[in-house]
Amino acid sequence: MKRKYYYFLTAAIIIGGCFLAKSQWDKQNTESTERIRFETTKEEDKTVRFIKDNIARTTDFWLYVLSDSFPKYREPNLIIYKGEVECRKSAKGETHTGIFYSAADSTIYFDMAYLEFLHKQSGIRQDFITTYLVAHCVSHHVQNILGISSYIKELGMKMDEERKSLLEERFELQADCMAEMFMNRDNLYGDIDESIKLDNMRTLRHTSRKWEEIKPEKCIFEDSHTITQPEMVLFWMKKADENPTLQNTNTFHSVNIDIKSVFCRN
Ligand SMILES: [Zn+2]
Repeated sequence: MKRKYYYFLTAAIIIGGCFLAKSQWDKQNTESTERIRFETTKEEDKTVRFIKDNIARTTDFWLYVLSDSFPKYREPNLIIYKGEVECRKSAKGETHTGIFYSAADSTIYFDMAYLEFLHKQSGIRQDFITTYLVAHCVSHHVQNILGISSYIKELGMKMDEERKSLLEERFELQADCMAEMFMNRDNLYGDIDESIKLDNMRTLRHTSRKWEEIKPEKCIFEDSHTITQPEMVLFWMKKADENPTLQNTNTFHSVNIDIKSVFCRN
């Protein structure tokens, strides 16, 4: 069956308009905005353009995948900063660091200092790191507008810590699986060997732990993407490559959560 048909069929079957009216997305300002919070160098200007281009490509992709079930899809807001940022997640006086998505304001917070650190310390291509992290953060945006994020959060509140962390891990794996759907569709980094991908995932996690040591002490480091085992990430990325459908991003089996209840909770 052609991939195009897969996308259409799966989006139609899974979502079918069963829950979207109540999603958090509807409560928010749907105007997409972007802001840069520091004075950029010429080199950084190129990276900013690359980030924006990638977000635009994810928008094309998700508009297509969700076209029948969620035609109102809008790309996330974007704030590019360097070092530390105040965001909707922060209590008064708190600052954050890292590359992360905030469901509270549908915004990707992209830390240029963290990106440069990851690239220089790991030796991994900056374009790969950027594309992967943008695709991952946009996937959290998709989870948010589909109501998955709030559902998982609600479930987590009723669970003990052990089960809750399993759930969070599955949530991150789903974002990686969705990210791979996008990257594979555009054949981005298809030339990278599987063993190198695995090495990249291991190295990125190792390097992000180093950031924890050198980041400004007062900053909260947003590193939930790194709680997953690299082998599991690769496993779910391969699943996305073999069968790139939303249904196939159900990483919640092992914690006994039915995908239908996740997608159709309302
Ligand atoms: Zn994540």
